[in-house]
Amino acid sequence: KDIDREISQILGLDERREKDSELYKVFSEVFDKTTIDTLAYFHRRGKIEHLLGVISTGKEANVFKAIDGDGNYVAVKVYRTYTTEFRRIWEYLAADPRIGYLPKDIRKLVFVWTRREFKNLQRAMKYAVRAPEPIAFGNNVLIMEYIGDEYPAPRLKDIERELDKKDFEELYEFAMGSIEKLWKRGDMVHGDLSEYNILIWERPVIIDWSQATVKRNRMALTLLRRDLRNIINYFAKKGINVEDPDEKFRELSGD
Ligand code: ADP
Ligand code: MN
Repeated sequence: KDIDREISQILGLDERREKDSELYKVFSEVFDKTTIDTLAYFHRRGKIEHLLGVISTGKEANVFKAIDGDGNYVAVKVYRTYTTEFRRIWEYLAADPRIGYLPKDIRKLVFVWTRREFKNLQRAMKYAVRAPEPIAFGNNVLIMEYIGDEYPAPRLKDIERELDKKDFEELYEFAMGSIEKLWKRGDMVHGDLSEYNILIWERPVIIDWSQATVKRNRMALTLLRRDLRNIINYFAKKGINVEDPDEKFRELSGD
């Protein structure tokens, strides 16, 4: 197939193809023409030299470890242009006051979704909430700082067994502090904060900002309540002395 050759050429996959067939399988499964063109564009610009491996295959997106033209690792999140999540994506975008025109075409809707995540990362950084640094975006591809070394950083859920009480206490403070800072200073809410979207590295890092939105969004309070509940319930189960989620919600929402 032409596309196969293009993937291999653009991304220098030929040598890796046999060695890492899982990688190739994911490529050929998710890379339609638009995705390949977009990756080729970033390849020419030196933002992506090679894709090195699959970090995660999700319902909406796949995340790859890559190396850029300067030899630094980057994380590349590639949204599927065909998604069964169309409805949910549409609803979330429709409620976001920052988004003007909503395309009817699913592919273009995914582009808007991708750009919004990039903007969310920028906004989180601006308010000093720990998130991967956004590097570039185009169509359904988002390039950001890679968290990890040879191996990607574990999620909180992955390493919870190795943590002690003090670690959990610090992480609880981190998570609650982030929710509060985002809401009060950034007028923003993550919306999907949990042990699955916190990476544990030198310092903890909050990832997966696709659902994040601004206070003015009519869904913002629902999302804030959800984040508070998820975080507080999780850390309560770990034996941490936690705040009351409803009280905290009232305090932040100002009711
Ligand atoms: P989703 O949960 O919607 O599939 P995420 O943004 O949470 O998408 O990414 C999926 C997984 O990829 C994460 O759980 C994490 O393991 C990994 N990942 C995401 N972003 C990075 C990053 N910047 N650095 C390292 N690993 C990452
Ligand atoms: Mn996630």
